[in-house]
Amino acid sequence: LLRAEGLWKSFAGRPVLRGVDLTLDAHEVVALIGSSGSGKSTLLRCLNLLEPIDDGRIVLGDEDISDPRIDANRIRSRLGIVFQSYNLFPHLSVLDNVALASRVVRRMPRADADARGLALLDRVGLADKAKEHPDRLSGGQQQRAAIARAIATEPEVLLLDEITSALDPELVGEVLELVRDLAHEGTTILMATHEMAFARDVAHRVAFLDGGTIVEEGPPGAIFSAPREERTRAFLTRFT
Ligand code: ATP
Ligand code: MG
Repeated sequence: LLRAEGLWKSFAGRPVLRGVDLTLDAHEVVALIGSSGSGKSTLLRCLNLLEPIDDGRIVLGDEDISDPRIDANRIRSRLGIVFQSYNLFPHLSVLDNVALASRVVRRMPRADADARGLALLDRVGLADKAKEHPDRLSGGQQQRAAIARAIATEPEVLLLDEITSALDPELVGEVLELVRDLAHEGTTILMATHEMAFARDVAHRVAFLDGGTIVEEGPPGAIFSAPREERTRAFLTRFT
C-alpha cells in the first residue's frame, strides 16, 4: 500500500536517510525502531511529504507521490499523521479540531462534519470534552483527540511518531489502547516508537532504522528474540 524505495534525505549536506526501503501492506502494523537521531521522524515526515526527499521514490497505492508535480495536500489527506507533542489548534474546541479536517479536506458541510467529529470523539472516549479547548485536556486526552483528527479524513495509512513519549507514564496506556483498537480494526499503521513491549504486542512487523537504512526487519518475535544483525542486538540490549 505504501512503499519507500531508496529514500535519501540530507540536512545541510549530512545524510540522515541513506537509501531507505520500506513497504507497508494494507492492514499491516509496522513498528519503526531506532536510536534517537536515527531518522525515524525524518522518514515519517518524508512519507507524508512534509519534507522533500533528495532521491528515491514513494509509492502510495499505485501512485508515485514523490513526483514533484503531485498535489501534496491531496496526498496528506490519504496519510494521517500524529506527532509526539499534540499539535491541536489551541484556539479551537476539541470538536472543531476534529471537524475541521472533514470540512476542509472532505468539504463536508459544518453540520455533517460536527456530527462525524462527535462520533469520532465518542470513539476515542472524549465525547464529553467536545466543547473544551485542548489546554483543558490531559496529555493522553489531547493525543487521543489528535488521533481522532488524524482518522477523520479516513486516511489509508496512519503514521504515528512516538505519540506516547511526551506523556506522563500513567497516560501512556490509554493512548496505546486506542492504537491497539485501530490496529485490530485493520488500520494500516506505521509507528515510530520506543515502546518495545507494545511493538512486540501489536506490530506485525518491526523495522530497525540505523545509520540511515533499515538494517533489519521481521516479525517482532524474531527481531526481539533472535535479531540477526549485531547492530540490532546492541540497540535492543539497551531496552532490557
Ligand atoms: P528521536 O528518537 O529522538 O525522535 P529520530 O529517529 O526521530 O529521533 P530525526 O528527528 O529524524 O531522528 O532526526 C535525524 C537527524 O536529522 C538528527 O541528527 C537531526 O538533528 C536531523 N534533523 C532532523 N530534522 C532536521 C531539520 N529540519 N534540519 C536539520 N537537521 C534535521
Ligand atoms: Mg523522532
